[in-house]
Amino acid sequence: MSHSKLDSPHRRHNPLTDEWVLVSPHRTKRPWQGKVESASRELRPQFDPTCYLCPGNDRAGGHKNPVYENTFVFDNDFAALLPDSPAETVENELLMEVDSVVGTCRVVCFSPRHDLSLAEMQEENIRKVVDLWAGQIDELGNDYTWVQVFENKGEIMGCSNPHPHGQIWASNSLPNEPFKENREQQRYYKKHNANLLLDYLKKECKAKERIVVENEHWVVLVPFWAVWPFETLLLPKRHVLRLPDLNDAERNSLANILKRHLTRYDNLFETSFPYSMGWHGAPTDNNEYNHWQLHAHFYPPLLRSATVKKFIVGYEMLSEVQRDITPEQAAKRLQELSEIHYRKASK
Ligand code: ZN
Repeated sequence: MSHSKLDSPHRRHNPLTDEWVLVSPHRTKRPWQGKVESASRELRPQFDPTCYLCPGNDRAGGHKNPVYENTFVFDNDFAALLPDSPAETVENELLMEVDSVVGTCRVVCFSPRHDLSLAEMQEENIRKVVDLWAGQIDELGNDYTWVQVFENKGEIMGCSNPHPHGQIWASNSLPNEPFKENREQQRYYKKHNANLLLDYLKKECKAKERIVVENEHWVVLVPFWAVWPFETLLLPKRHVLRLPDLNDAERNSLANILKRHLTRYDNLFETSFPYSMGWHGAPTDNNEYNHWQLHAHFYPPLLRSATVKKFIVGYEMLSEVQRDITPEQAAKRLQELSEIHYRKASK
């Protein structure tokens, strides 16, 4: 692909969703006079007696957390999906369609430590989070079609509690994003008799330009069609449908790449880097999903410092998402960063 072509405004196609993103590389020099978020206070205690996620503390509704030593999962006290919604809320009225949905929402505490994000946890403890994610997908996948494992990190992302934790929402229907990804991966598989993301990874491994970090089993890259400034995609190198399918070595290797990748993220603006991340494995109903490849998306909102955020507004809400810094520039910034966490690095 000619690089000069990519210096002027162009659109890039996201093959996973069949959507386009407008890229405007020339705009990176414009002065910023918009909203500057205040950098969140960084130092947290190891234990906070007022935190509803810390071990031994009280939660809403009279629940009390056990004195857990590794990970801890519980049903969300304010769940958006309920396992016992009335099944017959289906309405086929023209223009006012309603479908029923049942599901379960859980909260996953990554560790008893109030002060440690995944980036700062030890690999062996991140591995316990990987096992918990896989176990939850296995368990909830028995009852539900879609099990969304995700983490919403940082005040800027609307995360209400700084104790490192993620969530799991499982539902009997396929939500919008996996619906699109399923449709497009299936379409590609039928047309090319090959796996979309495995083919894509081959191209990226050859180009190398957008690869941020890799190890024996995993690759992190800035996707060619990234929307968020420092958006990344985490992929296994072999064909894997779901997290529970990972073997022991691949799970250790996943803990390794998560730590390295998230450390780079924290080092980018020397802040506990906010993001929404989540896993997209094949749906967990009984259909055939050979066209699917496991992956995780990281969507960080920060643009040029710990306090300047990208907003999806205006043209983006009404016409098409847009970015200024190119995915290649973003990848280069991330490639240049150290894998020693800035809080541990001697200055
Ligand atoms: Zn996806």
